[in-house]
Amino acid sequence: MSTRTLILTPTLLDYIHQVSLRDLPILAELRAETAKLPLAIMQIAPEQGQFMGLITRLIGAKRILEIGTFTGYSALVMALNLPPAGRVITCDINPETTSMARKYWAKAGVAEKIELKLGPALATLDQLLADPNTAPFDAVFIDADKENYDAYFERALRLTREGGLIMIDNVLWSGAVADPAKTDRDTVALRALNAKLHRDERIDLSLLPIADGLTLARKR
Ligand code: SAH
Ligand code: CA
Repeated sequence: MSTRTLILTPTLLDYIHQVSLRDLPILAELRAETAKLPLAIMQIAPEQGQFMGLITRLIGAKRILEIGTFTGYSALVMALNLPPAGRVITCDINPETTSMARKYWAKAGVAEKIELKLGPALATLDQLLADPNTAPFDAVFIDADKENYDAYFERALRLTREGGLIMIDNVLWSGAVADPAKTDRDTVALRALNAKLHRDERIDLSLLPIADGLTLARKR
């Protein structure tokens, strides 16, 4: 068996981008505008966006829930890969970054596919759960405040159809999860969730070392 995953050097990552990234001008433009913001590193990596677009098609998703919109990049790549009647519901608390998101969704021609729910995501998820008209989601992408990840996961599991996919971002947290000396709240929360999912009988599991770590959990 292969005993290790390659260390991803900057040269190798450049190569991956050169031979596999299928960029669109609108995506490059949104990345460039986001790069000017202090929290730009929160945006998913371009190769991760492409992967999530592929996943969207692979599972034939029609309804996707996202927790953590920021400037709208991940919602945009998923929306671009949904069928015309497909929908993304995305949650965030930040009116400024999400107004930038709306601008790009409109520019990309997918504004009608994306519904933004502005407010604390836990409250939005509880509203969705309480509403008898909420149809099950094919996929959920969890990418907001790390301390609430477990609460988001539990709600996502209830909101997802059987066989649906929950994607959880930043599960490697720059490597901090594997460093026992790191005991800040975000790291502790991510480490606990990773450990819980390992043995969780409700899901099938894979943790991908793409970007900052992406967990795929298929609801059984
Ligand atoms: N998926 C995005 C990145 C999300 S960054 C992309 O690909 O670009 C994380 C986002 O979570 C931030 O925009 C932040 O405002 C949001 N967030 C933090 N706490 C939140 C909460 N309690 N409810 C909803 N959103 C929250
Ligand atoms: Ca993220």
